[in-house]
Amino acid sequence: MPTRNHFRKTYLVTGGAGFIGSHLCDRLIGAGHAVLCVDNYLTGSRDNIAHLLDDPHFEAMRHDVTFPLFVEVDGIFNLACPASPVHYQRDPVQTTKTSVHGAINMLGLAKRLNVPILQASTSEVYGDPEIHPQTEDYWGHVNPIGTRACYDEGKRCAETLFFDYHREHNLEIKVARIFNTYGPRMHPNDGRVVSNFIMQALRGEDITLYGDGEQTRSFCYVDDLVEGLIRLMDADASVTGPVNLGNPGEFTMRELAGAVIKATGATSQMIHAPLPADDPRQRRPDISLAQHTLDWTPTVPLVDGLQPTVGYFRGLVERGLS
Ligand code: NAD
Ligand code: UDP
Repeated sequence: MPTRNHFRKTYLVTGGAGFIGSHLCDRLIGAGHAVLCVDNYLTGSRDNIAHLLDDPHFEAMRHDVTFPLFVEVDGIFNLACPASPVHYQRDPVQTTKTSVHGAINMLGLAKRLNVPILQASTSEVYGDPEIHPQTEDYWGHVNPIGTRACYDEGKRCAETLFFDYHREHNLEIKVARIFNTYGPRMHPNDGRVVSNFIMQALRGEDITLYGDGEQTRSFCYVDDLVEGLIRLMDADASVTGPVNLGNPGEFTMRELAGAVIKATGATSQMIHAPLPADDPRQRRPDISLAQHTLDWTPTVPLVDGLQPTVGYFRGLVERGLS
């Protein structure tokens, strides 16, 4: 395990072999810290962290966060959880366990070590929102028994646990509500809209708009998101969140499909497919709180972020890896 010293911090990143987690590991190592990456490789991959494995300050550990973990670190980023609807609905009981038991185990670890802990929460805590854009004081509109509930309610319960540990044990917590994030290392077959559209375009297939394609999302490039996570972790102990992290640029799925067709140069047509249950109609973060408390604003517009993302997926296709 990476050693602790006064100059270099050692961070535990759960879910560190996943899409966002692997970029976070890159940034922490690049900043001179040591990283203990914990992952059960449910949806992540050793390929995402292969370039870090020889770094003496990086260590990868296969572990499921639903079981207790005894390690020594200076701070915890808790990202472990499948994030795409296709993945998290495959074993919904395990998804809830990962959010809830995982939070209990990681909070227990943070409490024993008396170190700050950041939770990767989600815009899904707002459900199908009745206010727009979403501010952190909105309590949400979630169906507790629907097919998305394992994820949405699991994440909501994790937030509850974080704030109860904070109130009861004075633990330093940081809760980030992450909105749709995209970029290289997304799983090509996880069913999320950005990866789906790009893979369909690169394969010359039709692009599937679920429902009428007029529902909206806001897409944050992964580098911007990771910057927000690091600023939140580094913020004063009084900054607990929850704080929205996302790009306020709002697009319909039809507009996104058009941008993907342009970025790939594909000749794909748009076709319609059934809308999944409880699919939120619109979503856009109000990021005033992050702007004021973290001095954070995303800098990468969708058209720019799509370029490296398309390049990544094109590389997978050319190497026959998807
Ligand atoms: P991802 O699926 O690529 O990464 C999740 C990682 O967690 C994977 O490496 C997976 O193997 C690991 N994992 C899952 N269950 C685990 C368990 N029980 N024990 C240990 N490891 C486990 O997803 P991502 O997009 O990188 O998301 C990372 C975090 O950010 C998640 O907590 C997700 O809920 C949150 N988030 C992501 C988005 C987004 O748009 N990507 C939006 C909101 C919130
Ligand atoms: N979506 C779509 N076509 C696809 C995949 C997704 O139209 O091939 C839509 C989906 O119905 C949703 C939006 O894109 O309205 C975002 O879906 P995703 O699964 O990426 O994220 P989430 O719904 O969790 O925001």
